[in-house]
Amino acid sequence: MERKQIAAGNWKMNTDYNEGRELAKAVVAGLQPSDVLVVLGAPYIHLKNISSIIQDVSNIKLAAQNCHQEESGAYTGEISAAMLKSCGVDFVILGHSERREYFGEKDELIARKIDIVLRHGMQPIYCCGERLEVREAGKHEELVGEQVKAALFHLSKEQMGQVVVAYEPVWAIGTGRTASPEQAQEMHRHIRSLLQKKFGKDVANATSILYGGSVKPDNARELFGQPDVDGGLVGGASLKARDFLEIAGSF
Ligand code: PEP
Repeated sequence: MERKQIAAGNWKMNTDYNEGRELAKAVVAGLQPSDVLVVLGAPYIHLKNISSIIQDVSNIKLAAQNCHQEESGAYTGEISAAMLKSCGVDFVILGHSERREYFGEKDELIARKIDIVLRHGMQPIYCCGERLEVREAGKHEELVGEQVKAALFHLSKEQMGQVVVAYEPVWAIGTGRTASPEQAQEMHRHIRSLLQKKFGKDVANATSILYGGSVKPDNARELFGQPDVDGGLVGGASLKARDFLEIAGSF
């Protein structure tokens, strides 16, 4: 099976209601026809509205940026998988390094979130990646391997077939510092080979592995040109429709 090329935006905690609507409309208006799947990772307040804005565009999908691990209940301020699904959400970004760092999320918890998202028929975008000191110690492949195993290796082949992986070295997120295309390729190949050992060649080959960390219009083409880099998870540059569209056109 051919794996999908994906340009996913992560708006994080940016855009008020009007700004979010205009940004989504601008992406829809400017998108060129192609096989690339564009994903808008918007704050909760936009989900229902963006779901209607993109309803007639087959290659734009909607992502949420988090989800609670329980079905429902007394979890003030949280959002459930069923709620996201009912707003038309297709993907859920899970395990982002900002969630790990500021909200203490560990892989055991992230694994439960992956399970509930899959149970509700949505696709997790599972983020993994090492901090700078880990890379400097030469332990990055080991660390990312542990993250991948802890969050994904309990899944069945069918479930893994629904997961998108995003490799996001923490030292490259929001810093303007990007992994070199060679560094990205090396890690993506490593992740794919772990997936192959556990889930087999077909599943590994069909899994989209995105790179994230200061992807911009001027570096996207070289990164996406690597054989195991299937697209990007884009933070800052996804807030400007022009930049994001240029990135989506960089395959
Ligand atoms: C991200 O938020 O996942 C990200 C990669 O951010 P940025 O592109 O701004 O580095």
